Amino acid sequence: MRILVINSGSSSLKYQLINMEENKVLAKGLCDRIGVGNSFLKHTKAGNDTVVLDKDMYNHKVAIREVINVLTDKKYGVISSMDDITAVGHRVVHGGEKFKQSVIINESVMKTIRECIELAPLHNPANITGIEACREVMPDKPMVAVFDTAFHQTMPKHAYLYAIPYEAYEKYSIRKYGFHGTSHMYVSQRAAAMLNRPISELKLISCHLGNGASICAVKGGQSVETSMGFTPLAGLAMGTRSGDIDPAVVLYLMQKEQMSIDKINEYLNKKSGVLGISGVSSDFRDIETAADSGNDRAKLATDIFCYRVKKYIGEYAAVMGGVDAVIFTAGIGENNSLVRAQILKDLEYMGIKVDEEKNKLRGMEIDISTDDAKVRTLVIPTNEELAIARETIRLVKN
Ligand code: ADP
Repeated sequence: MRILVINSGSSSLKYQLINMEENKVLAKGLCDRIGVGNSFLKHTKAGNDTVVLDKDMYNHKVAIREVINVLTDKKYGVISSMDDITAVGHRVVHGGEKFKQSVIINESVMKTIRECIELAPLHNPANITGIEACREVMPDKPMVAVFDTAFHQTMPKHAYLYAIPYEAYEKYSIRKYGFHGTSHMYVSQRAAAMLNRPISELKLISCHLGNGASICAVKGGQSVETSMGFTPLAGLAMGTRSGDIDPAVVLYLMQKEQMSIDKINEYLNKKSGVLGISGVSSDFRDIETAADSGNDRAKLATDIFCYRVKKYIGEYAAVMGGVDAVIFTAGIGENNSLVRAQILKDLEYMGIKVDEEKNKLRGMEIDISTDDAKVRTLVIPTNEELAIARETIRLVKN
């Protein structure tokens, strides 16, 4: 069985074709600059070099056609026709409270995803465009929507409600939703496999540390708390996002700097986080280089980032009444051993002890704890596409 996974942005569309019997990516790629001119398709057939093909893609429907063309191409392709695709799995950012898990896409599901646009005005429209394009090009193919928010729908009400007048929740659905759910779900399941224990018995803290970063407390396989909120701006300090901040600061800044809503939105989402603190970059590789050459603010940015992660680990251990394993995933979590070491320093009292040599390894699933650590520390490369493909198969089979 082959599943096509689609992650559609406003002017880009990422795809992966996965052979589910072998959990193997047959081909993957990206259509970029859709509808904005000079569009191109970047395609990699497994085991081959990446090729960049100039393609005139003036909308997402043309882009999907080009994806099918390249997947069935004699030279670059991996299948002989569209019939070789069993089903299509779509990443959808926001499922609101309506979607508590992945669903087979039909008209009524599309209607509900459209209703969630209000909650994710930047993301859901692009996801919808991708789904609509696929449905036009492949009308008979079963399609599944997998939501970033769905995994967190198990959070209890006292965790997801903000302490503002209850009417805000009733009237505008203002509450914590959480994101990166597909990743937190995937790495938690992998953690259970690595620990060789049923997930129903485990208390896990999943740290997804990339440009966007969030932490999730996973108890018995279910999300019970997470650091992102109503939007992906909340929680940790991120590449360019502020994370948690006293809401009064927003009002104060708007007043002092005469900022419009758009300006403050850009300030908190694009100019803050480690970029804002360091003044150097949003990328931890640049931050590390700058800190090594004596840039104090680059070091400070790292300190703030790590300190927040540490605080959340303590908080979530308290929330779950203990923790069996802490998981690190995504760009920083998987690759940056210095950041991991700094986060986990002085947590021995909790039973967390990291083996320095093992912590230097990367790019694989590994338990980096010392043999005697009571709480395991796991590095697990995330694979949201595979998780989406698995969800797709699960639903299509049913
Ligand atoms: P996104 O949220 O955009 O998917 P990523 O998960 O790619 O982000 O994470 C980006 C961060 O991960 C950057 O700060 C970068 O420094 C770090 N990172 C990614 N790959 C590597 C690598 N191979 N080595 C070290 N750091 C990496």
